[in-house]
Amino acid sequence: MLAGVVVAAGAVVVAAIALIGGSGGGRGASGGSAGGSSSANPLSRGRAGARAQNAALLAKGDATIQRLAALALPIYCGGTRGNELAFTFDDGPGPYTRLAIRKLSQAHERATFFVVGRSMDSYPGYLSAELKVAAIGDHSYTHPVLPALPATQISSELARTKQKIEQDSGQPVHLFRPPYGAMSPTVLQTAKSLNLLTIIWTQDSADSLGANYAGITHNAEQALRPGAIILFHENRGQTIRALTTLLPELHRRHLRSVTLPELFATDPPSEAQVRAGGRGCGVAGLPGAGAGSTAAG
Ligand SMILES: [Zn+2]
Repeated sequence: MLAGVVVAAGAVVVAAIALIGGSGGGRGASGGSAGGSSSANPLSRGRAGARAQNAALLAKGDATIQRLAALALPIYCGGTRGNELAFTFDDGPGPYTRLAIRKLSQAHERATFFVVGRSMDSYPGYLSAELKVAAIGDHSYTHPVLPALPATQISSELARTKQKIEQDSGQPVHLFRPPYGAMSPTVLQTAKSLNLLTIIWTQDSADSLGANYAGITHNAEQALRPGAIILFHENRGQTIRALTTLLPELHRRHLRSVTLPELFATDPPSEAQVRAGGRGCGVAGLPGAGAGSTAAG
């Protein structure tokens, strides 16, 4: 089914996600001094316990991501057993990044940011703030239509960005979303070779297609269900405005937005679901718009 170029209706993200962790304490190999053990303060012990619990959850999510990445297939959704879904934001960092972070933080919701290497050059120093509410994934360096490039350039686009995120954030990256959701077997195999899981989406909010905040809200609300992966862009003011409605709506429906590693830790898609592609997630019309489309992602 993946012969030739496929542009999904939602994007695929593979990510090398670095995950959240409170005030930046680290999980991961280079984790800093956060692991704190010997405090006599019960509150500190409580925080340490929560941190350990979070680290265990993330390790589980990472293990699931590695298992799924080995399939070299795109992910369109998580499982549907819980009450969690995943808001994802592409193309940053940018001028609205801090607003997006603030809205997520105030609502106690989390997300995944698929960042562009070139945008990190323009807006340096944002990743540590993003990590407080989000995981971070690779969205290429220059945001090209990857299937149009030779294999060596595809590899360079992904690897440079992965390396830059890891250097800036101190966190490993395991998630990738192809620009425009444009995939080919070479793109998927390249992601796999870099230990990146390719992530598309269940629903495109259509913010990059010019929808205003009301349209973005409507499009996203239609897809608010367990396991959904919803595509937004963090560099659009209308998207930020839509969050003002969407984030309380999550709460009202007893749903939570979590990072993709958190979603995969607690409620991953089954392998059969992944092998079924978009259909395995109830996504109609995938693959979507055709290779020439640059509509989303
Ligand atoms: Zn994009």
